[in-house]
Amino acid sequence: MTAAVTHSGIPAHWPAALAPEALATVSTPTPYLISDLSTVADRYHRFGAALPGVRPYYAMKCNSSPEILRTLADLGAGFEVASLGELKMLQYLGVDPADVLYSNPIKPPAHVAAAHAAGLWRFSFDSPGELNKLAEHAPGSAVYLRLRVDDTDAVFPLSRKFGADEAEAADLLRLARKLGLRPYGVTFHVGSQSSSPPAWRRAVAAAGRVMAEAAGDGITLTMLNIGGGFPARYVDHVPAIGEIGAALALDELLPYRPALLAAEPGRHLVAESGVLVATVLGRETRGGENWLYLDVGAFNGLMETLQTGNRWEYPLWTSRADHAHAASGKFTVTGPSCDSSDTMFYGAALPATIAPGDRVYIGSAGAYTLSYASGFNGFPPPTPVFVGSGARTGEGERIVDAGPS
Ligand SMILES: *Cc1c(COP(=O)(O)O)cnc(C)c1O
Repeated sequence: MTAAVTHSGIPAHWPAALAPEALATVSTPTPYLISDLSTVADRYHRFGAALPGVRPYYAMKCNSSPEILRTLADLGAGFEVASLGELKMLQYLGVDPADVLYSNPIKPPAHVAAAHAAGLWRFSFDSPGELNKLAEHAPGSAVYLRLRVDDTDAVFPLSRKFGADEAEAADLLRLARKLGLRPYGVTFHVGSQSSSPPAWRRAVAAAGRVMAEAAGDGITLTMLNIGGGFPARYVDHVPAIGEIGAALALDELLPYRPALLAAEPGRHLVAESGVLVATVLGRETRGGENWLYLDVGAFNGLMETLQTGNRWEYPLWTSRADHAHAASGKFTVTGPSCDSSDTMFYGAALPATIAPGDRVYIGSAGAYTLSYASGFNGFPPPTPVFVGSGARTGEGERIVDAGPS
């Protein structure tokens, strides 16, 4: 990724309902995160069209606003959770725990027991320790193996923290069976914001080898779960979802078609639906550097800028009437707290005329913003605001799971 932040024009993927003229009429105090639910529905339908037969289980950690969850539930999505707290939020909205995957490979025992008691029946694992935990606290449940795969093409790799090696897979599935659990499937995560369709292809190939080896032990797997990581558009080009769908080549790479093909998209479904709106609190020159102080920072919404060493680019726009024509300046853009690590962008291109009171519109901000935000230093998380509707447009069929057996 390059460090430049574009302001050459509103990008095509910026929701029309959230154009600067529309945002100028919003009276909510900043910071606020405004999300277009029609864009969420659109990305959901496109995902289904690009990956036919694959059931999406939305990874809710990425944005767990009830409006987003309800929109996706109404469209027919299942859900992926990491904790009992997330499952309880879904239950509150009326989602059936039987339609939820618990994909965190290392879980608190009490969360396992309570989720199992609530009717959640599918759990991931990547180790003998977790299998023993599941056998004790969720006896008889269906378990799916998280494989470690190559995630070097992702902005946010995950494979050091989780995943069993392919060479351990058969032993683990046999152990699951021996412990009275149901060896149910295989899953992986290529890393978040992956820009590499071949990464999915390689991962599916590895899953296919595991399926073939398990078949030799008399174990037929019901689910292949291709995880999350599907990229959203920020500034740089990313592969279209159709390119990833085309790279999967399931019939070529799998020894048989599992009954359930699942995916756990997070960022891809919601990132482009949101614009984070902040107010400029101050503008100062310090040591020859132009500093811009906003009422949103890394700790109350833009944590991913820190996680990427400040190399993460968001499409930026401002409320200035002269935005498109003003000469561009280079700004160090920081947050409202008294902590200097609260700085989001270096060398951001913004109108040289920008001044306190102006608003900065941060696009593609619907994922991993609100859900990470704290009230550090007394600066609250952005207020969620919603426009649009997730009402179905007719396309796509709801795929119903086989259910526990
Ligand atoms: C975070 C996560 C996801 C979603 O990842 P995205 O990159 O947002 O698509 C899916 N599955 C699991 C197990 C996760 O931890």
